[in-house]
Amino acid sequence: MKSIRYFASLLTLSVLMAGLAASCAPRPIASSSADVKSVAEGRPVAEGRSQNAADPTGFVVLTDVVPDVLLEIRYYSTFNFVGTRVDGYEEPIALMTREAAQALKGVSDEMIARGYRLKIWDTYRPQVAVDHFCRWGENVTDTLTKQWFYPYLDKDVVFDQGYIARRSGHSRGSVVDLTLVDMKSGRDIDMGYGFDWFGEESHPDWTKGLTEEQISNRMMLRDVMLRHGFKPITEEWWHFVLVNEPYPDTYFTFPVRRL
Ligand SMILES: [Zn+2]
Repeated sequence: MKSIRYFASLLTLSVLMAGLAASCAPRPIASSSADVKSVAEGRPVAEGRSQNAADPTGFVVLTDVVPDVLLEIRYYSTFNFVGTRVDGYEEPIALMTREAAQALKGVSDEMIARGYRLKIWDTYRPQVAVDHFCRWGENVTDTLTKQWFYPYLDKDVVFDQGYIARRSGHSRGSVVDLTLVDMKSGRDIDMGYGFDWFGEESHPDWTKGLTEEQISNRMMLRDVMLRHGFKPITEEWWHFVLVNEPYPDTYFTFPVRRL
């Protein structure tokens, strides 16, 4: 029942938001600390690859490579913590580097055989979207989505606690936010807390208050992603990075639209 009420509330919010003008904002969620760290580490750049941040060569439309995925591109919709469509999301599609998309194909094929489809919330995220998240984070008076995404958090800590960062690994094009849908019921499996929940409950290893099923569902997603070349982060059960990402130091800027 809780999840049904939650979903109904979000739908209501989405409708309410649809009529509002977009204003501010940045983003990201705890992936920030990991992102900043990766930049500081100065990992080597893959040789011979485009490093022009405006050049989408090397990217593909995810559904061209993995036709089976379900798309729920939250930042194209108003059903997200900003409460408006996010800058840079011009079409409700998912772009990724070819390498990351091919790795996801392996995940999808395996999970379909086991009765699940992948539901994609976000993949490549242009820098302008991250900038939008940041504007949202700086505007502490805008708490329109608080009750759905950060009810127990004071908004003025979103930068310090790593929920919003100036850069996101998503802009490198080899990161995915996803969950699993049970093909029998047609519903998302129960992970306990949803996408972009600002709180420790989103940590993949969080167990307090979760059911055995929720914990095992999180581990099922984690396990399959790791076996197909992705690595997790400590803050978000839904976020994975391709281990051998082809553009580890490039934060791309082109918008999300058909290539
Ligand atoms: Zn993410």
